[in-house]
Amino acid sequence: MRGKLAAGNWKMNGVAASLAEVESLVLSMGRPTCEVLLCPPATLIHRMSVVASGNIKIGGQDCHAKTTGAHTGDLSAAMLADAGASYVIVGHSERRQDHGETDAVVQSKASAAITEGLVAVICVGETLEDREAERTLDVIAAQLDGSVPDTATAATVVVAYEPVWAIGSGLTPTLEQIGEVHDFIRTNLNARLGTTEGDAIRLLYGGSVKPGNAAEIFAVSNVDGALVGGASLKAADFGPIVDALSNA
Ligand code: PEP
Repeated sequence: MRGKLAAGNWKMNGVAASLAEVESLVLSMGRPTCEVLLCPPATLIHRMSVVASGNIKIGGQDCHAKTTGAHTGDLSAAMLADAGASYVIVGHSERRQDHGETDAVVQSKASAAITEGLVAVICVGETLEDREAERTLDVIAAQLDGSVPDTATAATVVVAYEPVWAIGSGLTPTLEQIGEVHDFIRTNLNARLGTTEGDAIRLLYGGSVKPGNAAEIFAVSNVDGALVGGASLKAADFGPIVDALSNA
């Protein structure tokens, strides 16, 4: 039985005043049966971990593959852990696009995260062009093979399926399409890592998840939760998504 995870990615949004939303979320969500994670900008990780006071896990949005060194502007997994993070997102499509991150880079970041005791949320997803050319599953397979470390276990890795064209667009794949890709990812992980770990790794769907569509997405096979961008910024939106997952 896999645990469920409602994860929020604040991206480059949020200042100290935004922590009021986290206080509201903690108060409104009661005792969810799912795990709840927020990944704020690095500037807020420590303060958010204090406000969340154990009710919500905190994660980074990226980490460097190295532990220390001459990498101006970067943060290591150890630094994120030191600030209060227990998770880190790696390979988000915005990092892949904006910073040219390859699967090999993503894999090295995931390995660094695991070494430092963080859970790596590894993102994969096709572009609209890929989907229209009917190469979605080929793209996902290549990203999984290249980005997921051989050492991945259910305790150290979460995989997020995030179609690039669904992120921030208000568009979502059909439930059948989500199910097809999640089942494919499960089969791929089982073949690669063995069924003990492959069956236990949590798979998140991400891309325009809102209070209005969360419940139907959480009912899809092999969907163990969501990675939520825009709708994670406000407790009034993220709270109902957490509730939907708790009740799924
Ligand atoms: C994301 O950035 O991971 C994401 C899923 O964004 P949104 O929910 O806004 O589509």
